[in-house]
Amino acid sequence: MSQQLSWLNNELDDLRRAGLARRRREFIPLSDGSCVVNGRRLIDFASNDYLGLARDPRLIAAAVKATQEAGTGASSSALISGRTEWHVELERRLAEFEGQPAAILFPSGYAANVGTITALAESDDVLFCNRFNHASLIDGCRLSKSRLVIYRHDELESLERELEKARDARRRYVVTDTVFSMDADLAPLPILCDIAERHDATLIVDEAHATGVFGERGRGVAELQQVEHRIAVRIGTLSKAIGSLGGFVTGSAELIDWLWNKARTQMFSTALPPAACAAATAALDVIATEPFRREVLAARSTQLRQSLRALGCEVPGELTCPIVPVIVGEPDRAVAAASKLEERGYFVGAIRPPTVPHGTSRLRITVHCGHTSDEVAALAAAVGDVLQGV
Ligand SMILES: *Cc1c(COP(=O)(O)O)cnc(C)c1O
Repeated sequence: MSQQLSWLNNELDDLRRAGLARRRREFIPLSDGSCVVNGRRLIDFASNDYLGLARDPRLIAAAVKATQEAGTGASSSALISGRTEWHVELERRLAEFEGQPAAILFPSGYAANVGTITALAESDDVLFCNRFNHASLIDGCRLSKSRLVIYRHDELESLERELEKARDARRRYVVTDTVFSMDADLAPLPILCDIAERHDATLIVDEAHATGVFGERGRGVAELQQVEHRIAVRIGTLSKAIGSLGGFVTGSAELIDWLWNKARTQMFSTALPPAACAAATAALDVIATEPFRREVLAARSTQLRQSLRALGCEVPGELTCPIVPVIVGEPDRAVAAASKLEERGYFVGAIRPPTVPHGTSRLRITVHCGHTSDEVAALAAAVGDVLQGV
């Protein structure tokens, strides 16, 4: 190794000793939703493909058709020549889906968050960012020139006090995930709307884990909690329940125009491949016509959470949320439990610091609508068993 980077050896050793080094592995996805890892076939309880759409034949057919007609890459940013008919159609469908006047696409949900926050919040403004927000929202806030205030959604009085103190700032933005993916709890959007309205603040919400999952029509927690008309900026991803790739923002025509002019992660990055747009558009059709997918997902998620709680596991979060965290404590214990589950044919995530606070390493299980009730029951029993031995 070059002398210049020799410090990396020591730093990496420190990470390994603390049980915090990341492992990378190769996954072979199978068409039935399972995957092969290290030669072993596993039921996938780790990916974010909640509705089982990423390998749905209808999405695949749409992606293949778009690829045959338009090629594999968009070849330039949307503002130059990358915005094809598939992009335009998806923008229209996303706006319609969320009942908003307009929508804009981004290369990823991460880019949507960073680009939107930095386009809106400038140096005379104040950003109020939830302590447990996704890294991409936090990075957007850090990159913005605004003053940053961190708040907790279980301590909203302090958010109100801070908003009061910031009343002389030019503008105030409250930024929140709608599903906090580490604890699987939902943001109290009606209360946040009240607070934002009282203090003349603008709400920016990220529905990454909620689009397609929550709400009668799958429009997210804003729909579930009936506050869609009270939220100015709605961000989502196409890469989780929608089964494709990309980020999006919906809102007023003026908001979307502004982002087309100012969002650097959109302007200076190549547009999505047409295939990703075509697949996402096909997914919106499935989400509209097959509500049973959401219903089955909620039922299986409830079953898993209740079974694990009955076994005495510490399982936080909303009963129907498909993210099911099981708190186990130290990082080594989380990794050992995940490996043991792998030996039994289940692929689940092990989440460690710095993603979660010290002492709260956890298994993160994600339920898909394709999991059977028997599979969920067997997994719960296996988790209970494995945790006895680690
Ligand atoms: C996954 C996720 C993102 C990032 O979305 P990508 O499309 O994968 O970049 C953003 N916000 C939240 C809350 C997420 O969970």
